[in-house]
Amino acid sequence: MRRVYMDANATTPLLPEVMEAMRPCWMEHFGNASSIHLDGQTAHKVVDSARETLAQFLNCRPAEVVFNSGGTEGDNTAIFGMLRPGDHLITTSIEHSAVLQAAQRVAERGIEVTFVAPQPSGLIDPEDIRQALRPEMRPKTQPKTQLISVMLANNETGVIQPVEEIAKVAAKAGSYFHIDAVQGAGKVKLDVQRFGCQLLSISAHKMHGPKGVGALYVKQGTPLDSLMVGGSHERRRRAGTLNVPGIVGLGKAAQLAMESLKDGTLERVASLRDRLEAGILELSGTGVNGGWAGNVRTPRTQNTTNIWFDQVDGEALVIALDLKGVAVSGGSACHSGSTEPSHVLMAMGLDKNRARASLRFSLLKTATEADVDHVLRATPEAVAHLRAISPVAAGTAG
Ligand code: PLP
Repeated sequence: MRRVYMDANATTPLLPEVMEAMRPCWMEHFGNASSIHLDGQTAHKVVDSARETLAQFLNCRPAEVVFNSGGTEGDNTAIFGMLRPGDHLITTSIEHSAVLQAAQRVAERGIEVTFVAPQPSGLIDPEDIRQALRPEMRPKTQPKTQLISVMLANNETGVIQPVEEIAKVAAKAGSYFHIDAVQGAGKVKLDVQRFGCQLLSISAHKMHGPKGVGALYVKQGTPLDSLMVGGSHERRRRAGTLNVPGIVGLGKAAQLAMESLKDGTLERVASLRDRLEAGILELSGTGVNGGWAGNVRTPRTQNTTNIWFDQVDGEALVIALDLKGVAVSGGSACHSGSTEPSHVLMAMGLDKNRARASLRFSLLKTATEADVDHVLRATPEAVAHLRAISPVAAGTAG
């Protein structure tokens, strides 16, 4: 059976060029990049070259790139590494659990945390961030907002947040600003100078690189404590022998992502997503979550749409589509299998039933018209079948 993968926000396959770039690192350039002999220096060289590419990708200095194990580690490091008891953290209620759970953990350790809610559109209003600030008082009666952490693009809805405006709020208050750019990388041009952040996390496997590797941008002079201690790797900001193949794969993925940002790939993906979305919305009892503020489109990543289907259980639809060869998800992959509705959709004000009846379609950048055709054939069939057997649709629900 033909299979169509529309769950790119969960993970993406390696591009062949990434695989080829990594290949020599397993057996030829296998050295420890910290060793002083030739084998070590060869590994060091390929890591340096990836670091240069990442610096270009992020528009920062190579020394400001800290390689790590991915988005979760970058997000955890930013939060655990920047906050001390008595500090105040502002984040949002639509963050990935890598930020949310870290924020909950620091809240148990004497750090005050404010979770700012989104607008129904899924957008965070910078004014709400400003209102949540705790200015430093003399004498210090309230904790100062040490850190603001807001994602660039939401993993469930694709909504792109106004990070430049939020950075201005942070700068005015003297707060540090971390951006979880895991879902924005490769879809939005990353530029830490323009964004105005001091910390930014990315992950290779969301942009056709390998799993288990990523990077945290740390602006020079940022008082970040390292999460991992041990050796003096990464200028003492992240101990652990460097994952040379992974880092080389991340570098190649970043280089290819920079090309895709310029060569029309993303516009092509957006038009496929729009055709898919319009086709699905022809079904009665459907609608898009996020992406609209009244009649105005909010910016969204090109590859994502999140759609509700009345009288359908989202989890059942994921399974029905899987049986028809279509891979999609009911929200964040980290929570699939959970019976709880999406915290993102709930924070946007959807009721539980609608949140449970929502699916995320996220296209790979290699998606084709034929992929969309297949999903547009499979979805109405699966929805019609589920509605026909749904006790809700039949009016027999208790
Ligand atoms: N942040 C966001 C927005 C994500 O979507 C994800 C992964 O789904 C992560 C962080 C975690 O990244 P990783 O899987 O590299 O740990």
